[in-house]
Formats: sequence, structure tokens, C-alpha cells
Amino acid sequence: MDYLSIKEILSQGQVGKEYEVKGWIRSFRNNQFVALSDGSTLQTFQLVLNPDKFDETSFKNLSIATSVSASGKLAESLGQGQKFELIVDKIVVLGHANSDEVQKTILQPKRHSLDFLREQAHLRFRTQLFGAVFRVRHHLAMAIHDFFDSRGFFYLHAPIITASDAEGAGEMFQVTSLDLEHLPQKDGRIDYEQDFFAKKASLSVSGQLQAELAAMGLGKVYTFGPTFRAENSNTSRHLAEFWMIEPEAAFMDLAGDMDLAEAMLKHCLSYALEKCADDIAFLDERLKQEESQKPMIERSKLNLIEKLKFCIEQPYQRLTYREAIDILMQSTPQKKGKFKYPVRGFGTDLQSEHERYLVETHFERPVILTDYPREIKAFYMRLNDDQETVAAMDILFPGIGEIVGGSQREERLEVLVEKMKSFDISEEEMSWYLDSRRFGTVPHAGFGLGFERLVMFVTGLTNIRDVIPFARTPKNCHF
Ligand code: ATP
Ligand code: MN
Repeated sequence: MDYLSIKEILSQGQVGKEYEVKGWIRSFRNNQFVALSDGSTLQTFQLVLNPDKFDETSFKNLSIATSVSASGKLAESLGQGQKFELIVDKIVVLGHANSDEVQKTILQPKRHSLDFLREQAHLRFRTQLFGAVFRVRHHLAMAIHDFFDSRGFFYLHAPIITASDAEGAGEMFQVTSLDLEHLPQKDGRIDYEQDFFAKKASLSVSGQLQAELAAMGLGKVYTFGPTFRAENSNTSRHLAEFWMIEPEAAFMDLAGDMDLAEAMLKHCLSYALEKCADDIAFLDERLKQEESQKPMIERSKLNLIEKLKFCIEQPYQRLTYREAIDILMQSTPQKKGKFKYPVRGFGTDLQSEHERYLVETHFERPVILTDYPREIKAFYMRLNDDQETVAAMDILFPGIGEIVGGSQREERLEVLVEKMKSFDISEEEMSWYLDSRRFGTVPHAGFGLGFERLVMFVTGLTNIRDVIPFARTPKNCHF
């Protein structure tokens, strides 16, 4: 007898053949129908207990959340919404679940709040919603690898521990093997010579600088790894531990960078729509119900699937930051009144309300803004000839604003050194990075994509804690 997952049986099962299935009981009704789920697909699989083979005592064991193995013949289903069912002759309970205790958990099959589900994050993989979310997350990760691999980019494992604080000083988690109760001192300060790395070390906030170095030999690379930020912000868009994708390519300029990022986003979204059609349809339905509870004015114009298509089917509007500022200064968003944060002209750091206005109201398509003021962007971005702006680009999406941030990098040694001085970054500490500009420097570019932000976009979930298996946020490192 074959053991197949529910997904496999539903796609390749043959009526009349015997199968064994394993999974968890979602529901049991009329002492005959069990809905079984095994995580392989959103769909549950109907088991029909053969009345000749079962009695009252066996029913008692088949409570919700119990794990079982069931065998029997596959039959065409008469019920609606399912193709097949299994006429079961034999059920073995693998792990019992006490119904009184199940009542207190999110395993009880009814609608629970996302907050309650988060409190039991260790059990939420069993729910339909989180099954869908984490299957989508998996496919998006595959889409990323698939995209870069097909374009000749090599997957680079950037270090997780770093001694460089060029980017994230202040929001870095320190890594130490020193005894915090008895810190070694030297001249009245902590003596890091005695620490594990003989210097102060932290968890990485970005793998970009290392990716740049690798690109200076391998040509095209991308990182996809965990990233850590000790920002005490507790927003619905920030985690202390998240995953980031950072491609970097030698001989690529800003225009190439934009083409790459636009193609990557479109690939990921199409890939998800194709591979997770039923999960996304389920998420779309859930979102529609949620939207219908809101007052008319707050409802979003597009549903989830329309929003994905909005970002797949149209070319992204490209314009400079300066042009965007002009548009924003001339416009007063209808209905909702003025912006919460006024746009005061060149130099204003755009907020997501501004970004969303450009995308959702002004252009009605995704937008790529380029050439930002040098002061509001990182030190490694390439200085433009106007001396005032840098070759940066941000991609803006409906509902969220910035999804990708990238730039052409400053490849000219003197200019970079000058920039580092103005940002107060130690040239000596970063001499390894500067070597890439000393020995055969080339124009190059890359960008960063927060993976969870992408998963949020595709699933329609609005709290970042719900798209990562176990969220790490301020004052919260449970499970
Ligand atoms: P934000 O303005 O949202 O804080 P950022 O400007 O600090 O973002 P970058 O330093 O450009 O972000 O990092 C690259 C990408 O990583 C961002 O575009 C975003 O998608 C993601 N990101 C940044 N911080 C976090 C975080 N704390 N949790 C999850 N994703 C994050
Ligand atoms: Mn930030």
C-alpha cells in the first residue's frame, strides 16, 4: 500500500486503489466523517469511516487535533468541494489529544484573533491560516533562489557575526563571551582584547559590504540570510531578527539595478500566484471578509490578487526624488485631507503615506524613485555629478510604500573616503572594504529586500510577526 501526502493523493490518486494517509483531525462529525489535514496543502481530506468496521469506543478516540494513520479505498466524493474521499477500514491513533485541553488552545477550530494565535505560535502551524502563510513563505524563498540562479548570481553566505559597525551602530546586538558580571577592564574601559574575537563584535545588520567584496571577484552574488537589528521600535513592520536578500553585481549601473529589482519582484509574485494559487485564494477571501468590516473610506481599492497583478502586469514608473517632491508639494490628497507629515521640499525624508500616494493615487502603478539627497542615504551610495544627490533607488508598492532599497555603489576611492569622513566612519577600520576600490575597482550596484516585507505583501497580513515562524521583537523571545 502506498503512503502519500494529501496533496499527492488529491493530484494523483486513483479511484478504487488502497491508500494510507496520515495527519491531524480537523473535525469529526456524524460519527462518520473525519476532515484530515497534513500540512501538504490547504485542503483537508475527507475520511469516511466504514460503519461495519467501527463502533462507539473507537469514535471516542477520534477527537480534534489527534494524529492518526488511516487506510482504505479511494472513492469519488459525493460531497461538494472535494474530488476524492477515503472509505476507511482501519484507523490507528498515533497521538491522542485531550478534548478539554484542546478547548483552551487555538486548535479548537473556530475563528481566533491574530493576537491569540500569536500567543500560541508553537501551535499555529496547525491552523489553515498559518499553513497557508508558511507555504507561501517557502515558495517565495524558492522563487528568490530560482530567480538569481537563473541569472547567474551565486548564493553567498555572508557572516552573521561582524566587527564592523559602519551601518548599524546603535542598533546592533553585541556578541561576547565575556562574563558580564565580571568584565575585564583596562584604563577604565572594557578590555575587548580579552573578548572572544579580541575586539568588539556584533550580529550583522546587513551583508552588503561583504557581498560587494564577493562581487569584486565572482561578478554577481546575492545573500539571503538572517539579519539582526536592536531597534526598539516595536512596530508592525520591524523585527529584531529578520531575513534579507542582498544581490550585488559588478559592472551594473543604477538602471541595471532597477531592471534587476523590478524583474525579481515580478518573478516572485508570479511564482507565488502560480505555486500557491489555493493558499493565496484563501488569503484573499480572508482579507475580503476583513475589509468588509471596515468603513467604506478605509477599504483598499484592490483585493489581494488584484494587488499582486497590479505589481506584475505594469511597468514600474521611474522618476527622480526631485520630481516626486514636486508632485507631492502640488498635490493635496483627496478625501483624507493633508499628509500627516508635510512635504517641505528637497531634503524631506519621504514617509510611507507619501510613497503610497504616488503609487496608489498619482501613478496607479509601482514606482521607482531615484537620485535621493546624499544626506538622507548611506555613505556607500554613488555621488552624482550634481554633488547633491546619490545614485539610489527605492521601489514603492501599494499598501506598504518602500519594498526595495538599492543603489549604485561609490566605486571611486577618493570620493568614498571623503564620504566616509563626512559620515564619521573610520577609514582604518574599513580598510578591507576600501581595498575593493584600490585593486581594480569597477562600477557596481545592488539592493536590499526585507524578506518578511515581501511575505507580508503576498499574504496580505499586516503584522510582520505573523509571517515569520517565531518572531523576535522587543521584550519578546518566546518559543
Ligand atoms: P525601515 O525604514 O523600514 O526601518 P530601513 O531603511 O531601516 O527600513 P534598510 O536598512 O534599507 O531598511 O534595510 C533593507 C530592507 O530590510 C528594508 O527595505 C526592509 O524591507 C527590511 N528591514 C529593515 N529593517 C527591518 C526590520 N527591523 N525588520 C524586518 N525587515 C526590516
Ligand atoms: Mn530602519
